[in-house]
Amino acid sequence: MDFAGKSTNEKQDLFLKDCFDILEDKLCGNDKKKGDFYLNCISHLTRHDSLTTTQIRECDKSTDEDGKKADKTYRQWLHNFIDEINSNRNRLQNKLSENNLMRFPKIEYVQGVKGREAHFFLSYASDIAEDFAGDADGSTSGDDSDYSTIRYKTEKIRRPPWYLRVAVSPFKTRKTRSIFALSALVGVFLILPLAIGYIYLLHPNNLVLVALFVLLLSANLMLASPTIKILRLITRKITIVDSIRLPLSSVCISEITRVVASDPSKTERRLSVVTVSANCPICNAKYGLDSSVLLEHQGLAHSRIIGVCYNNPMMHRYTFDKDLMTGERLRVNFQ
Ligand SMILES: [Zn+2]
Repeated sequence: MDFAGKSTNEKQDLFLKDCFDILEDKLCGNDKKKGDFYLNCISHLTRHDSLTTTQIRECDKSTDEDGKKADKTYRQWLHNFIDEINSNRNRLQNKLSENNLMRFPKIEYVQGVKGREAHFFLSYASDIAEDFAGDADGSTSGDDSDYSTIRYKTEKIRRPPWYLRVAVSPFKTRKTRSIFALSALVGVFLILPLAIGYIYLLHPNNLVLVALFVLLLSANLMLASPTIKILRLITRKITIVDSIRLPLSSVCISEITRVVASDPSKTERRLSVVTVSANCPICNAKYGLDSSVLLEHQGLAHSRIIGVCYNNPMMHRYTFDKDLMTGERLRVNFQ
């Protein structure tokens, strides 16, 4: 599109209408009339200094005065639009450059004071160059440079797998953890295999013992993977919980709940099972993809857990810090 002859106001108008296009379903559902109201508000805001409460009513052209809603409702609708723009900045970022704007136009609200009606207005410093330095308040306007850091979000899992529920109380202090881990280790990797081997080699014809053999073998198979996960939780403080019942990217984290400065062995921990995801800043800005970064092990041999964007698993990879819940873009090493 040719922007040469366009004023900033016209570009803002096109940009806000593009934003509305993207957010329309969320804001209006199937209400076509509500959509017209928003478009009228945008036109007014970009052509006039302010949009007063009285003028907002006029933006609803679908009905006569009697059929109109309360002023408060119209104001709330416009506030919803502002909120949606703010929470979808990454997603709307590419519309900004498409409309040749450097910065998000901001719809602001001023409450009515003596003699002056409450009104909305569009704030946008006059033009491009001076704004490019970025927001003074440090809020991210989604610049390309910020593609390197991501913030993970978590969702609690209500019913964790059985072995994590069992591990909750023994996991509290270092002493109980050690006893628990040691007994699981000895049980699953020493006593059970020994018993299985003993029956298999020495009593292959005793029916009762063969039944016991089958029982022990299945118990061993069932317990091996949970035991490894518990051991990982003790040594690495985090493990991926891959269960068919749970969503992808579910992890169990061993969190500190109490620190005793004088005695580190008294540090208390608890287990929390959560599903972790993050927006990939690149795919979010380009396609509007949400929560495309999921956790997985880095390669088969590595036990390190990283965030991988399912839209571009080769290039969009991020570190994962369980305490900060943030990640940095990983450089890809092709060798
Ligand atoms: Zn991506």
